[in-house]
Amino acid sequence: MLQVTPVQAFTDNYIWLIHSPRDQRQVVAVDPGDAAPVHQALTHFSLQLSGILLTHHHRDHVGGVGDLLRQSSVPVFGPANESVPGNPIRVHSEQQAVFDSLGLEFDVLDVPGHTSGHVAYWGHGALFCGDTMFSAGCGRLFEGTAEQMLSSLAQFAALPEETQVYCGHEYTVSNLRFALAVEPDNEESARYLEECSRKRARNEATLPSDIRRERNVNPFLRCHRHTVKQAAEARAGRELNPVEVFAVVREWKDGFRS
Ligand SMILES: [Zn+2]
Repeated sequence: MLQVTPVQAFTDNYIWLIHSPRDQRQVVAVDPGDAAPVHQALTHFSLQLSGILLTHHHRDHVGGVGDLLRQSSVPVFGPANESVPGNPIRVHSEQQAVFDSLGLEFDVLDVPGHTSGHVAYWGHGALFCGDTMFSAGCGRLFEGTAEQMLSSLAQFAALPEETQVYCGHEYTVSNLRFALAVEPDNEESARYLEECSRKRARNEATLPSDIRRERNVNPFLRCHRHTVKQAAEARAGRELNPVEVFAVVREWKDGFRS
């Protein structure tokens, strides 16, 4: 399995360092929004930055790219349809991000919704999904539509269930409080909330998650389920199709304070 080191940035961002299976000291940084904590981690663990993957254009995901590239010139992959720093190799669905010398290659998935050109990287049993999906939640719809986001999340739900899920933010505990407001009888969500609360009390990452768990606890992957549909329809006061269920639950979450 892929070795991945989390680097905390800002208040709740994660910059993931993917270790080369050929040489564990060489790493690819995913969404380095800030260069300083990456530099610290590289020094602390005696690692060498050998590549960068970017999922979308938001500053908290790309802000450190310029600084990192001034220190070492490494290949950068980024979304084909967004403007991101680092003069990246621009990729979209059906293409791959390949770091030949590191023995790392990832399939690119177009996953619009949070931003219109957002991409995710999937390979070696791991998914790097930026701000499209969080554990038990999903990104806000800043640029895309509910329909786009629902179909982006459906792509994730169709991946092998053991796929490790690396998201851009530590939002799991507050997402699970919301998930339980939508599905109060979801026992796996309740158990997972206890587990994640204990981890956060020790300042441990709740990530990676996996696809099996997300299918079971993430309300945004469960819009076709009777329980989620019923909760959304009770809120809307009418019958809803799956896209409308998603839109109602997303809006509900936007206004939810746990
Ligand atoms: Zn974002």
